[in-house]
Order: sequence, then C-alpha cells, then structure tokens
Amino acid sequence: MLAENINRLRQELGHAQLVVVSKNRSIREIKAVYDTGQRVFAENRVQALLERREALPEDISWHLIGHLQTNKVRYITPFVSCIQSIDSERLIEEIDRQAQKNDRLIDGLLQIYIADEDTKFGLDEAECMAIISQYVGGKWSHVRLRGLMGMATNTDDAEKIKSEFLKLRKLFDDIRQAYPQLNFDTVSMGMSSDYPLAVACGSTLVRIGSKVFEMIEE
Ligand SMILES: *Cc1c(COP(=O)(O)O)cnc(C)c1O
Repeated sequence: MLAENINRLRQELGHAQLVVVSKNRSIREIKAVYDTGQRVFAENRVQALLERREALPEDISWHLIGHLQTNKVRYITPFVSCIQSIDSERLIEEIDRQAQKNDRLIDGLLQIYIADEDTKFGLDEAECMAIISQYVGGKWSHVRLRGLMGMATNTDDAEKIKSEFLKLRKLFDDIRQAYPQLNFDTVSMGMSSDYPLAVACGSTLVRIGSKVFEMIEE
C-alpha cells in the first residue's frame, strides 16, 4: 500500500528525482519508506543526520538540506552524498577542505535565495556567480557542483510561488549556457505543498517529507 502510493507519487514527478525528507520522523517510519525501495533521504540538521545514518541501512544516500555551520562540516563529510544548502563561499571552502581530507568528491548545490522572507538562507545571484566562476577556475576540486536549490515563499499565492520557481530555473539555464563545461544537471525545488508547481516549472529534484509520511498512516 505504502509502496503503491509512493510509486504513484514518483509517476506524478515524471523525470524529477524524489528525495524523501525524513526530519522529525521516527527510525521506524523511515525504515518503512526505505523498505519500499527509496534510497535517497534528506535531513536538515547535522545531529539528526548523524543519528539516522547510524540507525539505518548503509546503502542510503544522505542529503543535507538545512543551513550548515562551517564548524560542523567535518562530522558529515565522511559519508554525506550531497549538500544542497551551500550558502556561502566560506562553506564551500570548508566542504572542499574536509572532502579532500576524506579523499572524497561530494556533490553540492548552491542554495539561492528566491523567497520573500527574511528567515531563509541563500545566495543572491551575484554571490552565486562569484562562487561559480571560482569553481569553474578549479578552486574546489573535491566538491562537484551539480546545480541549484531554492525554497519558495510559504504562501497560498500560486502565482508568486511560480514566479520564484521560474526565476530559479532561469538562473540555472543561464548558468548552463554561460558555462557548458559545468555539467549542471540539478534544480532542487518543490516540497509537499508546492511540488506539482515546481515540476511544471522545471524542477529536476523534489524534497518531500510530510506527503510521503502521511501515506504511512493511511
Ligand atoms: C522540511 C523541508 C522540506 C520538506 O517539507 P515537507 O513540507 O515536509 O514536504 C523540504 N525542503 C527543506 C529545505 C525542508 O527543510
């Protein structure tokens, strides 16, 4: 039943990848989703990521989607597969340094500020381009930048959300055009409340929590 529901969700997503956000869920609930075949999960806090990783099967790919302090980077670099929330040059610098120590290549996304809310982290376009040009110049060889991540404003105004998603997708397309050598392939946008809109606006990866875990209760 759960497997069927998740498969239906996957079909709805088309080519966009499903990353299940497991924050605030019990190990038992996460394991139930794992048992349907899902292997990519995301947490927004380092401590929770470490605990879950310890308690769950080793073949899970873990993403970090929340603000990451530079002094905590070293705890997750031995295993994390993608850090979606790179929001400063200092942070990518530290991820690169720690990844090198661990002899790893870690996927990363640049988190772009697209919402209309003070509380959200993220880079503006100029900061994003400054990081990209240094990255293209070969500055951080143990991070593999795959694209961009963004969170729309928390609002019922679909037009507003749509314009924010389209802005992120356009920045992604502009970067790809300017730097074809980059191999950018990921636009991470869309959560439980807005993923259909995100997919329609060109998302390639959605981060869904509540909608998936509500299926367990059904
Ligand atoms: C919690 C969270 C999500 C998932 O939210 P849901 O509404 O549970 O789908 C996605 N992205 C980020 C950055 C989050 O913190």
